[in-house]
Amino acid sequence: RVVAASAGSPREEALERALRPKHLEEYVGQTKAREQLEIFIGAARHRGEALDHVLLFGPPGLGKTTLSHIIAAELGVNLRQTSGPVLEKPKDLAALLTNLEANDVLFIDEIHRLSPVVEEILYPALEDYQIDIMIGEGPAARSIKLDLQPFTLVGATTRAGMLTNPLRDRFGIVARLEFYTPEELTRIVTRSAGLLNVEADAQGAAEIARRSRGTPRIANRLLRRVRDYAQVKGDGRISKKIAHDALAMLDVDPEGFDVMDRKLLEAVIHRFDGGPVGLDNIAASIGEEAGTIEDVIEPYLIQQGFLQRTPRGRVATLAAYRHLGVTAPQQGGA
Ligand code: ADP
Repeated sequence: RVVAASAGSPREEALERALRPKHLEEYVGQTKAREQLEIFIGAARHRGEALDHVLLFGPPGLGKTTLSHIIAAELGVNLRQTSGPVLEKPKDLAALLTNLEANDVLFIDEIHRLSPVVEEILYPALEDYQIDIMIGEGPAARSIKLDLQPFTLVGATTRAGMLTNPLRDRFGIVARLEFYTPEELTRIVTRSAGLLNVEADAQGAAEIARRSRGTPRIANRLLRRVRDYAQVKGDGRISKKIAHDALAMLDVDPEGFDVMDRKLLEAVIHRFDGGPVGLDNIAASIGEEAGTIEDVIEPYLIQQGFLQRTPRGRVATLAAYRHLGVTAPQQGGA
């Protein structure tokens, strides 16, 4: 999938880093989260204390990693970055924690995937800036308490519901990131085009923005693909027509849905009579993991009103029928 929202190749990741805004004022949209953070960061700085622990949640590509870097930059402290699945043993986390300097930020991506034993040593660290570590082995083994520097944990997750209660309760600041509006994404595309030295007119930028599934990562990725297209098929400039033609070539439809989005809607409508159908049945039918459907594919379809989540399963709405050019059945379907 060209436009998959997951992390791409190392080259793509390097480009992504280059496009990352560095300060809160450059961070487009997410007004609520930004305003909150502005106040809490300002207060923590003023007192010379560590910021409260922050939990960021929302679908991939909405700017959680970016925001964690910005938090550290605005606090004027170091950022250490890791992720849930990477921290296999308690000592992996202990090593990171004991190396933090006062008020540093520790960013743990995919924090819902921490193993229970690792999560266990995180609790006292978060609460009292202390950890218990085991020294020695066998009968001589004993546990000692180590004091840590005060620090801020920034945890990111695609689903807040996947966190254990004790972990969730230890975050003082919880921010849910929302899909971006086409206007916000237009600003992001225009800014990125400037950084990439591509000329994109307002309508060209808007066309890319409109078809980026509300997601900055996708907007930036599509911008780079459209840039390639403009170089080969045009004079290098991104106009509405160039953007439109390039996106059609990439199988991004006028709603911004990609191949997997359409596959999902088609499956619900054609194979399950519009639903309700359970997530696992959809997963088996389209050959995608249930977790990916839940985290990456369906949030945007739901937010845009093409799919509904009901207690009995997923249901295709009238908009979905219309989008696929299928006549909806008289009863239900929405
Ligand atoms: P996540 O961690 O939520 O998966 P990232 O923080 O890696 O998402 O964001 C993906 C890309 O989108 C970044 O490289 C950045 O360039 C861009 N981006 C994300 N949020 C914003 C924003 N609010 N303003 C401008 N660009 C953004």
